[in-house]
Amino acid sequence: MSKAYPCLDIDLKKLAHNTREIIKLCHENGVEPVIVTKVFCANETIVKTIVNEGINTVGDSRIKNLMKLKQINCKKLLVRIPMKSEADSVVQYADISLNSELEVIKELSHCALNHNKLHEIILMIDLGDLREGVLPQDVLDTVKEIIKLPNIKLIGLGTNLTCYGGVIPEENNLTELVNLKNKIEEEFNIKLPIVSGGNSSSFYMVVNHTIPKGVNQLRIGEALVLGRETAFEKDLNNLYNDSIILKGEIIELKEKPSLPKGRIGVDAFGNKPSFQDKGLMQRAIIALGKQDILLEGLTPLDSKIEILGASSDHLLLDLTKCGKEYKVGDIVEFHMNYGCLLAAMTSNYVNLEFKI
Ligand SMILES: *Cc1c(COP(=O)(O)O)cnc(C)c1O
Repeated sequence: MSKAYPCLDIDLKKLAHNTREIIKLCHENGVEPVIVTKVFCANETIVKTIVNEGINTVGDSRIKNLMKLKQINCKKLLVRIPMKSEADSVVQYADISLNSELEVIKELSHCALNHNKLHEIILMIDLGDLREGVLPQDVLDTVKEIIKLPNIKLIGLGTNLTCYGGVIPEENNLTELVNLKNKIEEEFNIKLPIVSGGNSSSFYMVVNHTIPKGVNQLRIGEALVLGRETAFEKDLNNLYNDSIILKGEIIELKEKPSLPKGRIGVDAFGNKPSFQDKGLMQRAIIALGKQDILLEGLTPLDSKIEILGASSDHLLLDLTKCGKEYKVGDIVEFHMNYGCLLAAMTSNYVNLEFKI
């Protein structure tokens, strides 16, 4: 059967290998990895693959994604702090959620009671990145209220770094998290078994064996799929960074000038374009556009190809420097960064092809 383009070629063997490698490195350091599935919209085939490799808990930011995983036998963690309005779905489809607002936790408690369920929560602490989390000075007061709530079980503390403020996880901020956990355990005479020390930006500390003792969970998405850590954006040894490749088809290929002819207004997105005269070019159009990709995150595998731009449905390439002879109907392959992969996975117009 011929493929339908554009498509994402998803190599499940490579993803399985990356999963095993992440589990091994984490376990060597006393850390249990949670795989975060949002960048691939919790695609069930991929989730089954990683669960088969021994992942016990998967996390996603969207309840709609967790709902798809109802039949898959693993714990589900909601990683975006919940909306109060979705609390009822949260207790139904997530076993655990990350939280920072007492108001919402009270609502979760109420819904959990209705469903006769015990909902587990990890309290998020803002260690400086200024996205979600209770400030350290407010933690004890918050915990005091949480532990009064029925059908809610506080199972640990967590933090998220390098997402908004770009703050790097280090010994000092992660140790602060462990210390806070110890303080809560003493103060309230409870056990908090989980210290969730961040995302793929904390992974370098596992690789270097510098993750502070006591941090026993990481929530990993990008490192699995793109084979790189995100604190210093380094490729990880022994992990594939080409598990998922984007493929698009050439629908026009012509020699055309590099400068538009006529008075220049704005492009399809309201931006005023500017151009450099490079003479005649071998220009290709790929059936793929801004509805499916993040232009800045796209890198052709053929390094001689230059990306010129895109509109909603057309991607323009300069093939002038390519040694290879392309023709209409040929397929061009691309690497993607995180944002571009997220867009491509989310687009209804991009097909998925699995290699097993
Ligand atoms: C997205 C997300 C993760 C995973 O991040 P990666 O950089 O993909 O590893 C972990 N925790 C939270 C709260 C997230 O939102």
